[in-house]
Amino acid sequence: MKKIIKITALLLMLALSTTMMFGCGSSDVYKVITEPTFPPFDTTDEEGNLTGFDMDLMTAIAEDQGFEVEFESMGFDALIPAIQAGSADIIAAGMNGMDPARQKKVDFSDFYYDSGLVVLVKEDNNAIKGIDDLTKDMKVASQIETTGGDKATELADNGTIAEAVILDQFDTCVLQLINGDVNAVIIDLPVAKSYIDKQPGKVKIVGETLNAESYAFAVQKGNKELLDKINAGLKNLKDNGKFDEIYDKWFK
Ligand code: GLN
Repeated sequence: MKKIIKITALLLMLALSTTMMFGCGSSDVYKVITEPTFPPFDTTDEEGNLTGFDMDLMTAIAEDQGFEVEFESMGFDALIPAIQAGSADIIAAGMNGMDPARQKKVDFSDFYYDSGLVVLVKEDNNAIKGIDDLTKDMKVASQIETTGGDKATELADNGTIAEAVILDQFDTCVLQLINGDVNAVIIDLPVAKSYIDKQPGKVKIVGETLNAESYAFAVQKGNKELLDKINAGLKNLKDNGKFDEIYDKWFK
């Protein structure tokens, strides 16, 4: 009898230590990547830490689904290659998930924000009132590998403008506009508004919104397990009001 109890106790201890090592306690940690010149979605605080709507939303999804996230920033053009190479797990970068070329390279979550591109000019520019006023002597800036970059490149390729100035960061695009190095910037509407809020009186949005796009999170092609978690979390946050809370914090 004593022997049986001893063996049972031993087996129990073994089972317990195995679960401690491999089981419950250890939750998955996913590397989330972004590009931080896209306020209010992806930006940095005064200490240089990543912050924004995307970071709050992804953190809340992780909490809801019981996984952990660590954020890292890189160039916008490096995001999809990093996911394809498996060196990161999730893109949270205000990325348009409706882009067919991107859909071939990564899998997108359900959409979480409807957006569109606009033309941004200097506050004192009265000549450009919309995209139709861009002429073949003009330079238009946008960010590398973005839908705005595609649009600027298209305008240059078909001879509408002189040059598409494709830069690594959107803050540099806006800076070049303020400095008079370029005539206009093609940029996402909510991000344009955020740059205007940060530096009132310097730049303004002109004309209509140029397109319709929707932001989504991206994962490696075929990673259904992670995509399902992201979509389930997103749905729960929309149902329980947390999505609205985060939205109000960044967009009021
Ligand atoms: N909406 C744009 C895109 O998906 C820009 C995203 C960004 O610069 N973070 O291409």
